[in-house]
Amino acid sequence: MRHIYVISVFPELIRDFINYGVLKKGQDKSLINIETINLRDFSDKNGYVDDKPYGGGAGMVLQAQPLIDATRYVKSKLKNYKCIYLSPKGKKVNQEMIVKTANNDNLIIIAGRYEGVDQRFIDLEVDEEWSIGDYILSGGEVAACVIIDAVARMIPGVLGHEDSNKEESFTNGYLEYPHYTRPEKVEGKNVPKVLLSGNHEEIRVWREKQAMLVTNNKRSDLIKKKLS
Ligand code: SAM
Repeated sequence: MRHIYVISVFPELIRDFINYGVLKKGQDKSLINIETINLRDFSDKNGYVDDKPYGGGAGMVLQAQPLIDATRYVKSKLKNYKCIYLSPKGKKVNQEMIVKTANNDNLIIIAGRYEGVDQRFIDLEVDEEWSIGDYILSGGEVAACVIIDAVARMIPGVLGHEDSNKEESFTNGYLEYPHYTRPEKVEGKNVPKVLLSGNHEEIRVWREKQAMLVTNNKRSDLIKKKLS
């Protein structure tokens, strides 16, 4: 079973999220164990987990010691793990990182808040810093949900229908082909004939070609990457 722990000052945000859909199914089937840790349970003797930044400036910073204690507590429960601090300064997450993680690692995810965390915590405990994009969120909880969802669906058995992953966007370097469902005609627009043919080989070839066209139109950088 794969374990994911998230350390946060707002664990409720994550607890709600993981109780729906494939994440819930994955937990019910004991394929994945997702736990949240409230950083406030590791607060200093005055009950705080944050303080003003040395050198001045706006906002508060999460203190190193509560983060270190919470992280070491989680580490003591796991044989192997990757400890990730979510940060806009981190490496931008892509599907390759997600698949590698789903195949290999238990995860300890640190969701920051306020102005971020004391650098010494990162230096001492964190293996990698990950960003979900070039924009600033108010906290790492939303980013944690993004990572948990993406990792969980790559763990064998979680989706139920293993083929779901094989053709999805990014899996083979391309974006996915377009989908159609009933009815056959919507406001004068027909389903492409080949999809009604029942000819599996022709459908496969059409989808492959569409995937290349869509990728070239929307994300030509992915084609360049594939060819390089
Ligand atoms: N002062 C920080 C900076 O400029 O880099 C931003 C802090 S942000 C307001 C608070 C927390 O949200 C961060 O500690 C991080 O955990 C999370 N966060 C914000 N943007 C993120 C992003 N793009 N990816 C991952 N986490 C992010």
